[in-house]
Amino acid sequence: MAVYMIQTPIHTVQFEAFATEQLKQHGYRITQPRKAIMAFFASTDAPYSAYEIQAAMAAQGTAMDTVTIYRTLECFETLHLLHRVPSGSRYVRCHTQCSETNKAHARHYLLVCERCDDITEISDSIPRELLRHLENTTGFSLGDKAIEVRGECASCQS
Ligand SMILES: [Zn+2]
Ligand SMILES: [Zn+2]
Ligand SMILES: [Zn+2]
Repeated sequence: MAVYMIQTPIHTVQFEAFATEQLKQHGYRITQPRKAIMAFFASTDAPYSAYEIQAAMAAQGTAMDTVTIYRTLECFETLHLLHRVPSGSRYVRCHTQCSETNKAHARHYLLVCERCDDITEISDSIPRELLRHLENTTGFSLGDKAIEVRGECASCQS
């Protein structure tokens, strides 16, 4: 039973190149706000709320209104470049470089530590099978958003 932990930070340039490619492939233009938010998430592994991102943008001289921020975040989430962590309404960079965005594609799992707030993204085929089983037996449709699992990380338990 292999669980692949994806913790290697993706280099800034690599994430930006990948994100740019995904945007182009899906017919999105590389606008200034998209470029700035892309660069912001390339530089961090931590999750941020829309307001924190807005403040960070303002601090670096790229003032953006809330609507632009939310639209950009939604666009990135649709392309699986960022994930929204539902429990805290924050956004975190995706670590899988997945280019599948179709519905019923659910293979982004975020392990969220309730103590230290650390987020680990895992990529594994086993939960996927389990979720398929859930869908088949209940008729429930999962969509393509990341699935959040809450608990305590390894270092907080020791
Ligand atoms: Zn992901
Ligand atoms: Zn994906
Ligand atoms: Zn922890």
